[in-house]
Amino acid sequence: MLGLMQDRPLLITTIMEYAALYHSDCEVVTNAVEGGIHRITYGEVAKRSAALAHALTRLGISQGDCVSTMAWNSHRHLELYLAVPCMGSILNTVNPRLFPEQIIYILEHSEAKVLFVDITFVPQIEELAYKISAVEKIVIMTDRDHMPETSLDNVLCYEDLIATEGDQFDWPELDENTAAGLCYTSGTTGDPKGALYSHRSTVLHCYGSCSKDSLGVSKADVLFPIVPMFHVNAWGTPYHAVMTGSKLVLPGADMTGENFYNMIKDEGCTIALGVPTIWLALLQYVETLDTQDFTKLPIENFIIGGSAAAASLIENLEKTFGATVVHAWGMTETSPLGSVNRPMAKNAHLSDAEKMAIKVKQGRPPFGVEMKIVDDDGGELPRNGIAFGRLMVKGPWVAKAYFKQPDLNILDDEGYFDTGDVSTLDPDGYMTIVDRSKDVIKSGGEWISSIELENVALGQPDVAEAAVIGIAHPKWQERPLLIIVSKSGTAPTRKDILDFLDGKIAKWWTPDDVVFIEEMPHTATGKTQKRDLRDMFKDYSFPE
Ligand code: AMP
Repeated sequence: MLGLMQDRPLLITTIMEYAALYHSDCEVVTNAVEGGIHRITYGEVAKRSAALAHALTRLGISQGDCVSTMAWNSHRHLELYLAVPCMGSILNTVNPRLFPEQIIYILEHSEAKVLFVDITFVPQIEELAYKISAVEKIVIMTDRDHMPETSLDNVLCYEDLIATEGDQFDWPELDENTAAGLCYTSGTTGDPKGALYSHRSTVLHCYGSCSKDSLGVSKADVLFPIVPMFHVNAWGTPYHAVMTGSKLVLPGADMTGENFYNMIKDEGCTIALGVPTIWLALLQYVETLDTQDFTKLPIENFIIGGSAAAASLIENLEKTFGATVVHAWGMTETSPLGSVNRPMAKNAHLSDAEKMAIKVKQGRPPFGVEMKIVDDDGGELPRNGIAFGRLMVKGPWVAKAYFKQPDLNILDDEGYFDTGDVSTLDPDGYMTIVDRSKDVIKSGGEWISSIELENVALGQPDVAEAAVIGIAHPKWQERPLLIIVSKSGTAPTRKDILDFLDGKIAKWWTPDDVVFIEEMPHTATGKTQKRDLRDMFKDYSFPE
């Protein structure tokens, strides 16, 4: 027998309409790409999204068509996040930091008919345009006064495009499984692969992400996603903000610690989200200020994900700002929220050091995400915090296939997706990432976690960034090489670093060497680019 409750589809449209009704005066504040602080309300954003949907219809966009963006976090990007999926089309956000070939591949593969770009990315698109065949129109996300000179054909101005359109749109009642967003992973091998989110997966991800044990977003919050809207939907935060009616603060193109600090201070941000390098930039900036007490700032939570958050970073942020750091894990294929580290009442009595030992873990899955760890044969491993294996996840906001790759089976027999991460699960359900499976160092039949070594090394006061890679070894198969970028004005030695590690890691984990480089290579999403490091050190051999 079926239940007798209403079968309302889970649509992004309902999030937008709810916001227009209940959060219409709530602000979206952008540090505009053109300069200056721009303010608008959710009510106005909803109306402009309707105008944008009319304009897109006029440009020939219909249901199932793809619209791409290459843009910073801004109110116009938010309007695209709403208008495009709500009209039944697909929003494909492209990461401008990818290699040109990858950008071309994504735009061709998604068959985007219209591409929206911020003025900052116009030169980049000018270089690629002749190789992008599907795109019929390029819309520059600015007003007439700021339109740049360009060699591009078929260029339109965003504000002109929507200026004369009506501010109400007859949004279609879509099937909740209709595709809504398309984000490509920047895997290190092969072409980028598209995760195709649906309205249903996006709405469920919102519910799962906003709860108190997850990101804990509410109408009382001022949300500051520094994580870019061109990568995994800025962790879903644009939709979280619109759904909950939290004020939304967007950093625009200014990725400096100074901008992060000013936005937090001036706009009263309570939750800020970003990868570890963002927080290093913020901490470095505040060190330069005369004032040294930042604990009065309204910030309550720093949410760190994308790469492991080291204990030293967590401690530093918490001490400096009197805020709580929340460590989270996820990936493009998981929308991205997969786990969040929140405390449990039963651990309230623990010492600070014991609490920190838990805090550095990647957290527990929210309801909706199922996890297991398996060995190389797919056999499930115990949840004892010691055994580690491939992390497998499933749930309604986890990918079941890649876009336009129907023959590529990415699930195991039980429907779990292989994350490519190696982790442990402890009896309380906290998951700890040991490594990416390709980064783990195989030494004498045992594994060494590069992440754990990096996290310990980051605690050395002169270390700004640390990375560990495996170097071939005649006896042990691989041994760890520790690569360091020192903080400016410091010059730690190999011995300083090794002395610091002594006693904090198992003896046999001790790196066989420590080398210093000027700058750490990063991926398009802010993670350490280990492939480049491996290239850089391909002829390296350990000292005798
Ligand atoms: P992406 O799909 O580009 O967002 O990358 C996802 C990958 O980033 C994951 O599979 C992990 O390897 C890594 N990652 C994300 N969050 C964390 C975290 N908190 N700690 C360690 N690695 C992380």
